[in-house]
Amino acid sequence: MIFFSDFDGTLTLEGRELTKDFFDIIEFIHKKNHELVIVSGRSISWGHFLLTHFPLKACIMEGGGVIVYLDERGEIMEEPLVEVSELDKLRSFTTKLKHHYPHVPLSRDSFGRLTDRAIEFHLMEQSWIEQVMDFMNVEKIHYSKSNVHINFWCGNISKYLGVKHFIERYRPHLLEKDCWFFGDAPNDESMFELFHNSVGVSNIKHCLHRLKHKPRIILEGEENAGPKGVLNFIKTLY
Ligand SMILES: [Mg+2]
Repeated sequence: MIFFSDFDGTLTLEGRELTKDFFDIIEFIHKKNHELVIVSGRSISWGHFLLTHFPLKACIMEGGGVIVYLDERGEIMEEPLVEVSELDKLRSFTTKLKHHYPHVPLSRDSFGRLTDRAIEFHLMEQSWIEQVMDFMNVEKIHYSKSNVHINFWCGNISKYLGVKHFIERYRPHLLEKDCWFFGDAPNDESMFELFHNSVGVSNIKHCLHRLKHKPRIILEGEENAGPKGVLNFIKTLY
């Protein structure tokens, strides 16, 4: 069995805290000889951190833009899932954005991002957020809001496309019934729409009204928020 999971708000609490539940999830899945693949909007360097500190073999980072994995020698490898021309377009748009909005708070890790950039929207007034989003619409730049960032990119990137490519290329023998996904926010919506076994942890209730496509299973109650929900649910499968 393989468990794909969002990170912030799903494996962490309130998008910030790594609790004992996170370590219990890792241990439980590892002991069962199954696999956890984190699918996050965080940067590629977070993928390096996760692979070097936990018993994981692969992560899908930057909202599905890049796969970071260990090869057979244990070396960290990266596979970007967009064309070089899209990366060039992203670079020039970012310059243009900074020209139009010199104070736009790009996340500190944006310099280390490969296939997307991120904005710290919590430092912005709502009207300013809307102006920036309108600007991206006009420039035909894709974006999505997680519970920590507004991420933007060029090319065809989604968590679902990243997971689909990962399964086809790296785990081709997996059966659909043995693959699960956990998430908590609108940037997980492509998975809720297209991935069969999707589960929303209970804190998803805050943004359910904004989702056109909801998870197939929605957990309820404080005891199923974030990593507690993931752990409780995984245990019911055994
Ligand atoms: Mg999240």
